[in-house]
Amino acid sequence: MLKIQPEPYKIKTVEPLSRLPLDERKAALLRAGHNTFLLRSREVYIDLLTDSGTNAMSQEQWSALMRGDEAYAGAESFYRFVEAVQEVYGFPHVVPTHQGRGAENILSKSLIRPGDVVPGNMYFTTTRLHQELAGGSFADVIIPEAHDPSSELPFKGNVDLAKLAAVVKKFGASKIPYVAVGAPVNMAGGQPVSMENIRLVSAFCREKGIRVVLDAARAVENAYFIQEREKGYAGKSVKAILLEMCSHFDACAMSAKKDAYANIGGFLAMRDQGLYEQAQNLCVVYEGLHTYGGLAGRDLEALAQGIRESVEKDDWIAHRVSQVRYLWKALDETGIPLMRPCGGHAVFVDAKEFLPHLSQENLPAQALAAAIYEDSGTRSMERGIVSAGRDAATGEDHKPALELVRLALPRRVYTQSHLDYVAEGLGETWRRRARIPGLQFSYEPKYLRFFQARFKPVASKCPSAAFS
Ligand SMILES: *Cc1c(COP(=O)(O)O)cnc(C)c1O
Repeated sequence: MLKIQPEPYKIKTVEPLSRLPLDERKAALLRAGHNTFLLRSREVYIDLLTDSGTNAMSQEQWSALMRGDEAYAGAESFYRFVEAVQEVYGFPHVVPTHQGRGAENILSKSLIRPGDVVPGNMYFTTTRLHQELAGGSFADVIIPEAHDPSSELPFKGNVDLAKLAAVVKKFGASKIPYVAVGAPVNMAGGQPVSMENIRLVSAFCREKGIRVVLDAARAVENAYFIQEREKGYAGKSVKAILLEMCSHFDACAMSAKKDAYANIGGFLAMRDQGLYEQAQNLCVVYEGLHTYGGLAGRDLEALAQGIRESVEKDDWIAHRVSQVRYLWKALDETGIPLMRPCGGHAVFVDAKEFLPHLSQENLPAQALAAAIYEDSGTRSMERGIVSAGRDAATGEDHKPALELVRLALPRRVYTQSHLDYVAEGLGETWRRRARIPGLQFSYEPKYLRFFQARFKPVASKCPSAAFS
C-alpha cells in the first residue's frame, strides 16, 4: 500500500501568505503583549491558533450560500439546517446559535440552578464559565490518565465512572442538572471517549434520572477514533458511529465552527420538548429568533451542507487525523515532548517538559507559544495555567496538571509542506529552549483571561548550562 495520503481535495482559490522578517515578528510579539491571540493575522505565517471557524469551505458550501433565505422568520434555510442536524446527529429538536458558547449559555441558563454541580470529563473554558455564570460549579470526573501526558491509553478522554458515582452520591442527583461529556476532550489533547464508556455513563445517568449532554464540537473525530480503535466498529461508517454515539445523549451543544466545516455557527439539540421550548425562548433573548439564532440564512445553508459533508464519506475525517499525525510524528522525531497519544484536531506540546527551567508561575506554555511565533511565525495557543483561569469562589489560580501548547490544524487549509515548515520551525525553538524566558501577567481580564491578557518577560534566571 502506498504510504503517502495526499490531501483529498485540490485548490481552486488561493489566499496569499507571507512571512514577516524576524525583527518585525519580535516587534509584533511585544505589541501583542506576548499573547498570540492579540497578533494580527497579517503578522502570522502559519496560523495554528485554532481549528475553530478557520475551515476552508467546499465548492458545495460556497454554492449553498447563494441559496440563503434571508427572511427574518421561518426561512427555508433554517429548515434545511434542521434536517441536516436531525439526519447526522439524530436529535429531533434544534435551536440554532451563533456559535458553541451561545448554545452553552442557553443550556446552562435552562438547566442549572444556583448551587448545582455539573460533572464533566475535564473542563472546557467557555463551558465551565457558562456553568458558573448560571450559579453552578464544575466537577472533573475524567479518568486520572487524562492528566498525564505520557499515558498511551486509546480512550484517554473517558469518564471515570467511580468518580462520577462519588460526585452524585456526595451532592445528590437533585443537585446535578446534567452530566457533560466532551467527546473528544479538547483540553486533554483531543483524547477520545469510547462507545462503551458513553453507554455506561448514559445508563448510569438514566438510572439516577440525570440528563447527559454531549459537547459535539468534534464528535465526528471521536466517531473516527471509535472506528479505528474500538472492538466491533471497524466495519461501521463514521456516520453510523456518530448517530450511535448521539443516541445515548439527551441533548448536545455544538460549536459548528469545528467539525461542520463552517466559519460560524452552532446549535443546541435535544429530545425533550420542555427543554426545547425553554431553549427556544432564551434563544430570542440572547441569539435572535429561534429560526436563525444569530446566523444569516446563508450561514445556515453553509452549515447544512458542511454538517452532511463531515460524514458523507470517511475520507475527510481520515485525512484530517492523518495530517495531525504527520505533524505529531515529525515533532516526536525531533525529540520534542508531546501529549500522547496523538489526538485528532491538534498536536499538543508538553511545555513543562520543553521548558523545565520554568515553574508554573512563569507560565511555561504561554512563554513557549510566544517563542514558537518568534522563531517561525507559526501561531499556536496556550493551554495551561493561563487558560485554566481562577477559581470562581476563592479567586486562586486553577493549577492544571497539564501545561500544553496547542498547534491546531484548520480543516482543509494547509498542505503537507506547510506542516514540514512548522516542524522545522519548532526544531529551532527546541534548540534554543534553555534561553526562553518565562512570562508574567501585565494585564489580566476578568473572564476567559487567555483571550485578552498581556504579558511581560520575567527577568531570566541563570539558564541551565546543560543546553547549548
Ligand atoms: C470551541 C469549543 C466550544 C465553544 O464553542 P465556540 O464556537 O468557540 O463558542 C465548546 N466546547 C468545545 C469542546 C470546543 O472545542
